[in-house]
Amino acid sequence: MKESRLTTIARRGLAFPAETREQMRKTGIRCRPQLEIVYQQRANQWKLRGEESGGAVELLGHYVGFVDGEGKALPWLQRVQNFLPNGVHAVVIESQLVRVEMFRYENTYDLLITNHRLDVRQGKRPELRSNILFLGRNGSLETELWGRDADFRGGAMPHFFTRSGEVGSPESTWIDATLKATEAVCCTGCRHSHLLEAATSLNSLNLTEAMA
Ligand SMILES: [Zn+2]
Repeated sequence: MKESRLTTIARRGLAFPAETREQMRKTGIRCRPQLEIVYQQRANQWKLRGEESGGAVELLGHYVGFVDGEGKALPWLQRVQNFLPNGVHAVVIESQLVRVEMFRYENTYDLLITNHRLDVRQGKRPELRSNILFLGRNGSLETELWGRDADFRGGAMPHFFTRSGEVGSPESTWIDATLKATEAVCCTGCRHSHLLEAATSLNSLNLTEAMA
């Protein structure tokens, strides 16, 4: 059975023409939206494994990161530091993940937000269920976050239009993650984990919230 185009995108991430893929390869940006189903022996549980990865050069950027089902930051299991920038930054293992993938070519942006969970059945390897929460193509942002307008990083995101010319933005739940992804695809020589965070910083954040 042939998967429909949207099913493939939901599962594997944004699709690019061969020429674009070739150009991306040359930049050395390694963004890996694929998810893996992993089995935890001791906990006797199936989980999803994602790699937050990517970054930018001046011309283009490609980044994938993860948040929870409510758009909130998730803790990484492992932070990965490489000699080369724009690669894998952190690993996350959860039962449900919302993946935020962004691609930028100069001032034009694509954004894909997808939800992923495991359909676990007794005694069987679970199946990955993926659905699209937002897909925006050819969005634009005039601000040059990788250069002269770097001060606006974290506070700007591209705007997208529907086919009929209406403004189509992701739901408010995903705005924070979208802002972070925008920052990431403009982060030349990226060595950060823009969406996943250290468990300790999340704990202290919750503590501050509890005390307020
Ligand atoms: Zn970065």
